[in-house]
Amino acid sequence: MKPIRQSIKFDKKLLDQDAVRVVNTIHKAGFEVYLVGGCVRDLLLGLEPKDFDVATNAKPEQVHKLFKRSRLIGRRFRLVHVMFSARHFIEVATFRSGQVQTAKSGVIVRDNCYGTLEDDVVRRDFNINALYYDMHKHEVIDFVGGLKDLEAKEMHMIGDAKLRFEEDPVRMIRAVRFHSKLGAKLSNDIKTCILNQAPLLSNISPARLYEECIKLFHNEYAFDVYEKLEKYGLLEHLFKQTHKNDFIKKALLNTSARIKQNKPVTPAFLFAVFLWQSQNERFTIINKKQRSFYLAMTQASEEVIINQIKQVSLPKWLTARIRDIWMMQSILERKDPKKVDDLLQNPRFRMAYDFLILRSQSINPELKDVAKFWTKVQQ
Ligand code: ATP
Ligand code: MG
Repeated sequence: MKPIRQSIKFDKKLLDQDAVRVVNTIHKAGFEVYLVGGCVRDLLLGLEPKDFDVATNAKPEQVHKLFKRSRLIGRRFRLVHVMFSARHFIEVATFRSGQVQTAKSGVIVRDNCYGTLEDDVVRRDFNINALYYDMHKHEVIDFVGGLKDLEAKEMHMIGDAKLRFEEDPVRMIRAVRFHSKLGAKLSNDIKTCILNQAPLLSNISPARLYEECIKLFHNEYAFDVYEKLEKYGLLEHLFKQTHKNDFIKKALLNTSARIKQNKPVTPAFLFAVFLWQSQNERFTIINKKQRSFYLAMTQASEEVIINQIKQVSLPKWLTARIRDIWMMQSILERKDPKKVDDLLQNPRFRMAYDFLILRSQSINPELKDVAKFWTKVQQ
């Protein structure tokens, strides 16, 4: 394979200075080293990269030795995290060959054979994600036509789409996410394969899907992602209890707006929104038999959450928040003057209030007065 090499000098200000340090150190030690993946893609598109990934021919142990504050991680494949603060690290991956060992289902079970740069290219998912940036020569290296695809705003799979989705079904949701984020067209084979292979998502561990879901919805194009997941039949394999309504739409748009304004967001809020309708339906049924409102609420919440975590797992702290938001709805709806002060002190008040406001603006217009009441008292 002969790559295209395109000279380009990215403005230093656009690069993460910690990533620059990591690349320089590995380079000085005599290894081949590149920025790779989403950061190169985003820089070429004029977007701000979310994270900077580094690829090198140095083995993980060799990289680890170069950085005092680094650690080896990963079971399926070993990576090095170079730590810069408690929250910020740069991930360094050694070139890996596409040689993978798969189980009967086609899913990758072993993927840890080191390789050359060319090997590393073909294990990546889409052409636009397989661009390497040589910081010292100031050039982008493209083995698979990623530059052309970026120019045309198109996404093609590296290799056979059907096989690559079988190897790792998470690539289907990644495809949809980049489709939304970049406004890039999906190739026909990617589209067809997703429509056919969406059920393979059920082979993925709920814990991994939780991480992916946060990436899907905590961004500025969350509602578009939602609609595309639905269109491609992926949504039901993540949230089978969730069906689109105006509340969900408003909440996703609201999340995106908050992110644009640099306001904090929590996954608890969106999950609470996604599952609210189902929780209500279960509650109505249980409440007919169960006289205690509190117990009926608790049981309905429990059932809906148990169903959800079969698909996408949710950490305990998060399910506790979801329950709080739900439970507080009826308390807020009652507008009990004796409870106002207590509620305003409650650390969950803000989330429950935001939830109520969005309900009143969408599926529960009858709550407009209640919403006004709480808006007033909390001022
Ligand atoms: P972003 O960071 O904006 O979400 P990204 O493309 O950088 O997008 P990462 O998850 O950070 O995504 O992964 C970095 C790179 O690793 C990708 O660009 C791709 O080359 C490769 N990669 C990640 N996940 C997979 C996967 N499931 N299969 C194949 N390659 C992958
Ligand atoms: Mg990335």
